[in-house]
Amino acid sequence: MTNPPDWLTRGAPHIWRPYTQMKTAAPPIPVVRTRGAKLILADGRELIDGIASWWTAAHGYNHPHIIEAMRAQLEKMPHVMFGGLAHEPAYVLARRLADVLPGALNHAFLAESGSVAVEIAMKMAVQFWLNQGVRGRTKFVSFRGGYHGDTFATMMVSDPEEGMHKLFADVLPAQHVVALPYDDAGEKVLDAFLAEHGSEIAALIVEPLVQGAGGMVFHEPEVLRRLRRLADAHRVLLIFDEIFTGFGRTGSLFAMEQAGVEPDIVTLSKALTGGVLPLSAAIASDRVFDGFLSDDPLAALMHGPTYMANPLACAAANASLDLFAQGAWRADVPRIDARLREGLAPCRDLPGVKDVRVRGAIGVVELHKAPDRAALTARFLDLGVWIRPLDRIVYLTPPLIATDDDVAVLTGAIRTALAA
Ligand SMILES: *Cc1c(COP(=O)(O)O)cnc(C)c1O
Repeated sequence: MTNPPDWLTRGAPHIWRPYTQMKTAAPPIPVVRTRGAKLILADGRELIDGIASWWTAAHGYNHPHIIEAMRAQLEKMPHVMFGGLAHEPAYVLARRLADVLPGALNHAFLAESGSVAVEIAMKMAVQFWLNQGVRGRTKFVSFRGGYHGDTFATMMVSDPEEGMHKLFADVLPAQHVVALPYDDAGEKVLDAFLAEHGSEIAALIVEPLVQGAGGMVFHEPEVLRRLRRLADAHRVLLIFDEIFTGFGRTGSLFAMEQAGVEPDIVTLSKALTGGVLPLSAAIASDRVFDGFLSDDPLAALMHGPTYMANPLACAAANASLDLFAQGAWRADVPRIDARLREGLAPCRDLPGVKDVRVRGAIGVVELHKAPDRAALTARFLDLGVWIRPLDRIVYLTPPLIATDDDVAVLTGAIRTALAA
């Protein structure tokens, strides 16, 4: 590798990197351009991106349709406050999200990040009950292995053991983090739990079908039907956090479609703008939204971040929805699923491998123990790929436009690196 660029050397003492021990961590990889499924590094090397920038770049990088929509919006109005003002990109986006989401999920609150959307969904749930005159429903039930964000409220509902947040356990008011009801016995356990605690619960929150950052763990659609039945039986709201699963990743546009059930609130972010700008949404059902309609000003939803509904981000999201409407992803996701299965299956026989699993455009090799990340990353770089494990989980979530060859290179790199 050639010398690092000047901006990296000079800025490095001043940047605080995420989840990084700044004393010992290997230096980050300088990247200067993106294109399609590729990252182009400062030294000219090109890597096939196996992560799609944390699952955001669904259509690949620099998609001309998204770039064009952003350019047009940039010249007109990059940003304007959303309090009291309205702009076309947000209003079009809210209507289109209502169109593509199942059933009664019709009312979008637009924010900037996934964690904030989850916070808003939690706020909606608590305030919904208060608005109905129901007091004491202030807690949440979430599930082991779940991940819902890095802010304080979202840490509370993420898995305290497996997740990244155990350090803060003493700071966070305890919530109920329980086992997913994988079978009828699990449903009975959760049913009994809700019979005892239901009156203090505002909502259940779950990542449908795939628990992402908590370890890429899959469950069957029936689990979501169980949660819907239990939420109804115990009169608690149900929140689906589709920030990871939304926009095609699991094979349907939204994971919930595979279960045929709807939540009361859904959160979206990650691939919402096709990976170009931060944007998120908490989208409520008619019932939840109607619960805020009142002559009492204090019954209004009490939230409004400065950069909410940023017009440029909304324009990008609308362009991304155009691409999803064109529908290439419907063939691409099963194609990538098949290539991932083929390419990763031989990993089952490698030492240190605990499990190999694939769902849609998500391929996972779970190891018995966490690998040496720096060494593994260096190996992947030599093999021309960008793959960044989550602890024991080596995974691929490539852009949905990744070609068969791209996926073959990615899976080949995992086989080679893990065999070494
Ligand atoms: C990434 C993620 C979040 C948090 O989103 P940020 O934009 O990182 O705040 C929440 N929930 C799920 C399921 C996620 O994958």
